[in-house]
Order: sequence, then structure tokens, then C-alpha cells
Amino acid sequence: MAGIIFLPILVTMIISLILIEDNRNRDEIPGYDEVFKNADADYLVNPETWGLVQWKLTYSKPKDVEYAVFTKDYKNIISTIELCQQGKQYNEIDILTLIKTEAYFYAYQIEYIQDYDNENKTLGENGLWMVTRVLRKSFQHPKKIHNPFFISATILTVLFAFCIVMVLVITRSITSSVTLLEQYTRKIANGSLDPDEKPVRIKGSNEIASLITSLNTMKEKLDENEKKRMRFIMGISHDLRTPIALIKGYAEALNDGMIKDGETKKNSLSIIITKADMLNDRIDELIDFVKLNTHEWRQNLSNHKVKPFLEDFSKRFTLDCELMHRNFTADLNIPDDLEIAYDEKLFTRILENLTGNACRYTQENGNIRLKACFQNESLTVSLIDDGIGIKKEDLPYVFEPLYRGTNSRQEDGKGLGLSVVKSIVESHGWQINAASEGQGQGSIFVLKIEL
Ligand code: ADP
Repeated sequence: MAGIIFLPILVTMIISLILIEDNRNRDEIPGYDEVFKNADADYLVNPETWGLVQWKLTYSKPKDVEYAVFTKDYKNIISTIELCQQGKQYNEIDILTLIKTEAYFYAYQIEYIQDYDNENKTLGENGLWMVTRVLRKSFQHPKKIHNPFFISATILTVLFAFCIVMVLVITRSITSSVTLLEQYTRKIANGSLDPDEKPVRIKGSNEIASLITSLNTMKEKLDENEKKRMRFIMGISHDLRTPIALIKGYAEALNDGMIKDGETKKNSLSIIITKADMLNDRIDELIDFVKLNTHEWRQNLSNHKVKPFLEDFSKRFTLDCELMHRNFTADLNIPDDLEIAYDEKLFTRILENLTGNACRYTQENGNIRLKACFQNESLTVSLIDDGIGIKKEDLPYVFEPLYRGTNSRQEDGKGLGLSVVKSIVESHGWQINAASEGQGQGSIFVLKIEL
């Protein structure tokens, strides 16, 4: 591409330089101005006629031409021919003798330039004789290669051929890249791309290369999502299978009459009911999780005051904490009338999940703090606990569905809570982050709401 753009410019510059160089000594007839100024009224011709003489000598004669210009009655006006004296009066015979003397070495040409009055469009009375000569030697062996037009034509032909080759090369490379791109996108669209297949790469840094890079990123994301989805489904089926197996076991035992004692029968039935409720809860959670990712519910969002909502929640949670022997404090430093758009039920679920985790992952008499502040049009709600904390390696994954931190093995949980929180937060257009100094250092979850 650079070649196609810069080469013509370069060649044009070179040709111009050659032409300038070639015409350097031929711009004007030497002494023209002086002769013209001192011209006798006798041989004064129209300036256009002078111009014509000059043009002819400059452009239509060989570069090394020698010349002598005479008036109509053979008085020399200007001469570069040695034998001919400037300003001297000659006659026809003199001029012919002059030509004859050196005819062996020189080829002569005589032209009569008729004076022409361009303004009045009439022929003048005077005219000019123009005698030119070139050395026969150079005349017989013209140095064609020095002809600027010949050089230009050669360079332009080479350039043209180069451009054609370049166009062919570029077209071929674009066509093959586009074909590759087309096959690749078709494979991705059909889902027939093997996840372990190496990403396609093409050389260069053009748009197609960057498009392929974006496609590779898209493919990686799709693969990753697919893996996450599979993990999610496997985890859910595992989670559902346990209560189902228990329900089935107790139901079969009752059905086969293996449990005869009334009290044990009652116990078994209550286990079946508890497990069925558990199943119900998990299915509800699942439906909510899927629903939240569809964003349909967002249409029903309306503005609510935040402070009373957080105060209500804090009151309820204070009672829960008393029962669970945790110390809870709320620090709500926000304007009373601050309103934001949210779904009350879903915001409650965010807080319930976060506070639920805070209780589960702190020891008895542990401290939990809900802090809200409003600054620079941004509301921040943080939940801080001084519990077991989160390991550094777990932190990036805690919001992933079914991820359970290494700190949580002995705790009861399904690893769905924070992923539901994240979905609710994102579908409101908010942000949430988790931080912890490490194991035993407590955790902090920060919810950021930009107004
Ligand atoms: P789980 O049912 O395991 O609690 P969550 O999605 O609610 O699932 O949490 C994911 C993981 O994040 C937990 O397994 C735990 O490792 C970690 N985690 C969440 N909240 C806290 C907290 N307050 N303190 C320490 N670890 C936490």
C-alpha cells in the first residue's frame, strides 16, 4: 500500500527533477533581454514572435542546438554560432557561405518565422530568420536514453506494472483472509468448532486480522460460557439428586411397610416434607436465577426511597442477629429523601444473601456492619464482617454460580447465593465487589449504585 501511494509521488518528483535539469540551460535564449531592449526599430517584431522563437529553440530543437537569428533583411540579432557575429549585417550569399563552410560537421536548418500581431490578428511586415545547427555526430547517434520523455515513459511503465502486481498480491491476500474469516465464522455459527481447536491467526495488522482477533476472543468467551453452563447444570443436577434420593428412599420404605412404628413413620414423613420444601426452594432459586438473566422484569422498576428501606431491613436483621448471637450495627449516612429505581423484593434478596453469608461465615459474637453513604451522586452500601474472610485465590470466583470457597467446606450452602446477588445487581445496572485481607481477616462486600 505504502508502495502504491509513495512510489508515484517519488517517481513524479524524480521526473520533475530530470526535466528541470534538462531544461536548465534552455529556459531562455541567452542575451534575449538585452537584444530585445536594444533592438532597432528596423527589426523590432511583436513580442509573440520573439516568444515563438524562444519556444522553438527551447522545446522543439535538440538540447545542444546552436543558433543565429536574423532580421528579415539578414541583420544578425543574436547568435551562438561562432562564425556569425551578433549585430552584423549579412546578405543571403553570406549566410549560405556560412552554412557551407561547416556543413561537413554540422546539420543546418533555416526557418522563417513570420511576424504575427496577436492582438490585431494580422501579419506584421517583419519576420525573423532562424538558423539552427547541431553537430552531425550527435545527430547521427542521438542519446535516446537522455530523453526525459523516454525516461518518464519507462518509469511509468515500470510503475504501472508494479501497481498491477501489488493490486494482485493485495487482492489475493484479502480474498484468502476473507475466505478464512468466512469459514471460521460459519464454523462458530454452526457450533461445529472444536473447543480445543487452535485459534485462527493471520499475519499483519489490518482490519481483517483485528476482526479475527475479536472472533477468537468471542470464541473463547463462548467456550468459557459453555463450560460455565455445563458446570452449572452438573452442579444443579447433583444438588437436586440428593434430596430426591432421600425422598425416594423414605417413600419406598413407607410403601413397602418397612417402617411400622408410628413415631418413625411421622419422622420419615416430616423428612420427606422438609426435603420436598428444600427441592422447592432450590427450583425457585433456579427459576429466579434464569429469570434474572432475561432482564424482562426491569420494565416494572420504579423509584423508592432507600433510607427507610435499609432501616426496615436493619431492624429485621438486628432481631435475626440476636437469635444467632451476632453483633449487628447499621450506619446509614444517606439523605432521607434519596430515591433510586429498584425492585424491593430483589434488593431484599441481595441484602439477605449478603447478611446470611456474613452470619454463616462469622463466629459466635462476631461483628457485622451495614454501612451506607452517598457521595458524588453515588450510593455505596457495604456489608462488613470480621469473620473467617476469603482466601485471595477464591476472591475472583466467589460470584460464579456454584463456586464454593475453600473456607466454606464445613458450612451448609450451594454456592448460588452470590451469583444470584451478582445477577440482581447487574440487571439493575449496579456493581458489586468483594474484598478480604485473607483468611481470618473478615470480608467486605461493596455495592455501588451510580445515580
Ligand atoms: P455459599 O452457599 O457457598 O455460601 P455463595 O455464593 O453465597 O455460596 O458464596 C460463595 C462463596 O463465597 C462461599 O462458598 C464462601 O467461600 C465465600 N463467601 C461468601 N460470603 C462470605 C463471607 N461473608 N465471608 C467469607 N466467605 C464468604
